[in-house]
Formats: sequence, structure tokens, C-alpha cells
Amino acid sequence: MIQVNHLSVSYKSKNKEVKALENINFTADSHDICAIIGPSGCGKSTLLNVLSGIIKEYEGQVLLNGEELNPHLHKIGFIPQNFGLLPWKTVEENCLLSFKIKREKVTNETLNKMNEMMKTLNIDALNKRYPSELSGGQKQRVSMVRSFLMQPDLLLMDEAFSALDAIIKEEAQQLFLDVWSESKINTFFVTHSIDEALYMGKKIMVLSNNPGQIVKIIDNPLFHLTDYRNHSDYPHLYAHLKQLIKKGWIEES
Ligand code: ADP
Ligand code: MG
Repeated sequence: MIQVNHLSVSYKSKNKEVKALENINFTADSHDICAIIGPSGCGKSTLLNVLSGIIKEYEGQVLLNGEELNPHLHKIGFIPQNFGLLPWKTVEENCLLSFKIKREKVTNETLNKMNEMMKTLNIDALNKRYPSELSGGQKQRVSMVRSFLMQPDLLLMDEAFSALDAIIKEEAQQLFLDVWSESKINTFFVTHSIDEALYMGKKIMVLSNNPGQIVKIIDNPLFHLTDYRNHSDYPHLYAHLKQLIKKGWIEES
């Protein structure tokens, strides 16, 4: 479970201070997957960077399972937009990277799990390749295997699907949710796509324009439905989210 209380973040550059997030409050259950959506520059990446432990200077409180969030204590998986693979490591080495960094033993069980996941994602023949020899969709799948294999307490993704073209993207979103459903790791993902939020977000958090504040968090009835676009709720939920994003944009700018 994650609890964020009165979180504010400012960036200080030269003699200017930019407030990126202001008084963010929310809780998420351990098995939640939450979409974060809002206008460009509203603080989505900043929020993820706080949750990942990259940003340590903030006001307020961030608790993971009742303890102050700490990347040395908690396992946090992060999939950035460029997938974050190390170019000089093979697919297999990239998948096992977190074990190497944490100096944890790679057991046979881990290896079996990795191979099984690679088969499910159809990348099992690529394990000796380097990232430069992979397509965008394949890189994305490798970063998925890497993240799920480390069984993180928290999984974060910053527009991890936006670099993929439309058909590959839909397949990747579906594969992600299929793999996610097995472990239901607490996940937060940033997206600028209302459609993606409606398919992948069990909850959808709308942030307002700079400094980012929560406009609303909605429970999404379309989450993980195969035919979500044809659901009778799709048009009005889409319009509602669009309006909330616009509202946040107008009120703050
Ligand atoms: P988003 O991901 O929603 O596009 P960001 O979290 O990247 O937004 O940025 C939020 C605000 O903070 C923006 O106004 C941005 O210009 C500013 N910002 C982000 N990173 C820095 C930084 N390192 N130094 C100064 N300002 C920053
Ligand atoms: Mg961003």
C-alpha cells in the first residue's frame, strides 16, 4: 500500500524556484494499477521520480507499506520511455541486471521464470542479442521481463508505451496486463493517452497544470476489458477525462 501525504516538490535553478507538485494526497492499495494523466509539464514525471526515490528533496510524506519510501529498503521497478536497457549487455544480462546490482544470487527458479516469461512474450529466441539488435516492441518486452522478474514492491512506468506504433502498442498493453495480472504488483504509469488510461488504469489520476495538483482520481470500470472501446461507458468516460484534463489546464494557466 502506498500513502502520499501533502507532497510538494520544487526545483531550484539559479535564483528561480519552479513548483512542480503541490499538496498531492492519495493512497493506493497493494494490487492497484494507477494511470497518471495530465497536460505536458504538469509534474507527472516528477511524481514518478519521487515514488522511485530519484527525487529525495520534497515536502510531505511518502509511505510504502507503512514505511518511509526508501530505494535501499524497497524494491522499485522503473520502465522509462526509452526502456532503459544497457546497450553493452545482452537481453539476458539486461533481464538479470537488478540481481547483479543488488548482488543477489540468481537461482534456477529465477532463470526458469525468466525463460517462461520470455516465451510468453515471444522473445525467448533473442536472449543473446544486444538492445541495438531489437525492435522497439522487443525492447519494451525485455524491460517488462526485467521488471517483473525482480518482483518489485512498486512498479513505475513513464510513457513506456508511447514510443511504440499503434498495433504493436495495443499488443504490448495487453501483454503487460496479462503478465501483471499474475502478480498484481502495485503499479503507477504515466500516459498522455486517455485511451491507454481507460484500458490499463484500474484507477486514473488526473493532474492539473503546473504546479501539478490532483484534479480527480476515478475508479475505471473499463479496466482490462478486451472490448473496452465498444463498452457503453467508453464515450462518456473519455469525454469526462478530456474535460477534467482541460479544466485543470484552464484553471491553472
Ligand atoms: P511532465 O512529466 O508532466 O511533463 P515534469 O514532471 O517533467 O512534467 O515537469 C514538471 C515541471 O517541472 C515543469 O514545469 C518542468 O519544466 C519542471 N522541471 C522538471 N524537471 C526540472 C528540473 N530538473 N529543473 C527545473 N525544472 C524542472
Ligand atoms: Mg514526463
